[in-house]
Amino acid sequence: MSPRKKRLVIIGNGMATCRLLDELLERDALHRYEIAVFGAERGGAYNRILLSKVLGGDDPDAIVTKPPSWYTDHGVQLHDGVSVRRLDTAAKIVETEDGQSARYDLAVFATGSQPLVPPLDGMTNGDGELRPGVFIYRTLDDCLKMRAHARAGDNAVVLGGGLLGLEAAKVLSDAGLHVTVVHAGRTLMNVQLDELGGEMLERQIEAYGIFVRTGRTLEAVLGDSFVDGVRLDDDKTLAADMLVLACGVRPRVDVARASDLPINKGIIVNDTLATEVPGVYAIGECAEHAGRTYGIVTPAWEQAAILAEVLTGANPQARYRGSKVYTRLKVAGIDVASMGRIDPELDSDEVIQVVETRRGAYRKLVVRGRALVGAMLVGNTAAAADLVRIFDRGDPLPDDPLEALCPGASSGGDERADRMVCNCNKVSEGRLREAISCGAASVEALCLATRAGTGCGSCRTELAQLLARHPPPPTRIAAAG
Ligand SMILES: Cc1cc2nc3c(=O)[nH]c(=O)nc-3n(C[C@H](O)[C@H](O)[C@H](O)COP(=O)(O)OP(=O)(O)OC[C@H]3O[C@@H](n4cnc5c(N)ncnc54)[C@H](O)[C@@H]3O)c2cc1C
Repeated sequence: MSPRKKRLVIIGNGMATCRLLDELLERDALHRYEIAVFGAERGGAYNRILLSKVLGGDDPDAIVTKPPSWYTDHGVQLHDGVSVRRLDTAAKIVETEDGQSARYDLAVFATGSQPLVPPLDGMTNGDGELRPGVFIYRTLDDCLKMRAHARAGDNAVVLGGGLLGLEAAKVLSDAGLHVTVVHAGRTLMNVQLDELGGEMLERQIEAYGIFVRTGRTLEAVLGDSFVDGVRLDDDKTLAADMLVLACGVRPRVDVARASDLPINKGIIVNDTLATEVPGVYAIGECAEHAGRTYGIVTPAWEQAAILAEVLTGANPQARYRGSKVYTRLKVAGIDVASMGRIDPELDSDEVIQVVETRRGAYRKLVVRGRALVGAMLVGNTAAAADLVRIFDRGDPLPDDPLEALCPGASSGGDERADRMVCNCNKVSEGRLREAISCGAASVEALCLATRAGTGCGSCRTELAQLLARHPPPPTRIAAAG
C-alpha cells in the first residue's frame, strides 16, 4: 500500500510561490504531496515586477502568470483572498483570519515583504487606515486604486527615489500629473548608484518633467479627511492630491511571529530553507538566510528551486548558499545596472569611470587586482551582460579593464556563449542559442523554453536581436502524397 500523501501548505501566493509550484510539479511532487496555497490577494499569481504597466493602464490580466484555472487544472488547491493568521506548529494546524483551520504536514512561508509606512502626523485617519489619497505600491489592488484616483492635472508626491518610487513617478507624470519625488538620500537610488550615477539619473528624470527633492523627507501629511498636501522637513509645503509611499519594505513576518518561529529581520532559515521548527520552511523576501534578506526576485527563484529539490527528494543534498545580487533594470525608461560595491573599499582598489555628459551615460568599475568587485552603468548598459558574467563567476578582468566596458571587444566566441542575457533567471546566450536551434522561433517561444524574459522583461529586446542574428533552422515540411 502506498503511504498517505503528505499535506504541503504554502502561505502566500506571490512570485516565490509561483516558481516553487513550477519547480515542485516539474519534479512530480503531486505523487508525494497534496498541495494547498493560501494567498491574501484575490486571484492567481502575477508578475509583481510588471505592476507599473497596470498602473499605466494595462489590463491586470496581462501580468497574471497563473490564473485560478491553472491551480484547478494542475491539482493544486488555491485559497485566494484568504489570509493565514498563524500556524499551531505543535498540532500542525494552519489557522486563517476568517476562522478556518486545516491540517498540514509541511508548511512553506512565502509571505514576501510589506511596504514601510512612516509614522507621520496625518498619515492615517483615526481608525488607523491610511488617509484617503495616501497609497502604498505593492499589489495589483494598490495599482488599481491609484489608477482610479489619479487625474491629469492633479499633484502627486512620491516619497522615495528608489526603483519603485521612480517607476511610479514616471507613470503618474506620463498620465499628466505634476509629480515631485521626495528622497531622503543625497542622490537618487543611492543603494545601487554612487553620487555621480544618482545625479546623472536625476537629470534624466527631471528631463521627463518630474521634480526631484533629494536630501529631504516629509514631516506631515496635510488635509482634513483627504490628503491635500505634505510638509517637508525644511518646513515648506507641497500641494498634493495624492501621496505614494515607496520608501522601502521589510520582510513580512507577522504570521511567523504569531507562530513562534525564530525571526531576526526575516524568518531565519538554513541552507535547506528550513526553519528551526520541524516541517516549516521559508523562501522569498520573508526569509533570512545567513543574515541576509533579499528584495529582488532572483534569490526567491533560486531558493524555490533548491527547496523543490529537497522536498521532492530529487536532490536531497541540494543546498542554498546565498545569491549574488546584481540589478539590471529599466528605471523609469532609463537603463541602469549595478553590482557589488558602488565605491572602493580598500586603498588599493582601482576605479575606472567613463562619463558621457551629453548622452547622460555613466559607467564605472571598481577593480581589485584583476577582480571585478563592483560595477555600475547608467544610460548605457551594453556592457552589463559581460560584466555580470565576470562578476558572477569571479572571472579575471581583461588586462586592460577598460575593455570590459566595451562589450564584445574582449570576448571570444566561447565566452559569448556564457554571456548572461537574462539576469532574473540567469539564462546565458549559449542556452538561448541552443533553444533557438531546437526550434524556438519567436521571443515567446524562447521565453517558454528557457524562462528568459519572464522576470523584469528588460532582456526581451535582446532576445529578439538574438533571434535575428541566429535565425532558427528552417522546419522541414513533409512532402504531401
Ligand atoms: C512595483 C514593484 C516593482 C518591482 N520591480 C522589480 C524588478 O525590477 N526586479 C526584481 O528583481 N524585483 C522587483 N520587485 C521585487 C519583486 O517583486 C519581489 O522580489 C518578489 O515579488 C518577491 O516574491 P515573494 O513571493 O517573496 O513576495 P511577494 O511577491 O510579495 O508575495 C508574497 C505574497 O504573500 C501574501 N501574503 C502575505 N501574508 C500573507 C498571509 N498572512 N496569508 C496569505 N498570504 C499572505 C501577499 O499578499 C503576497 O501576495 C518589484 C516589486 C514591486 C512591488
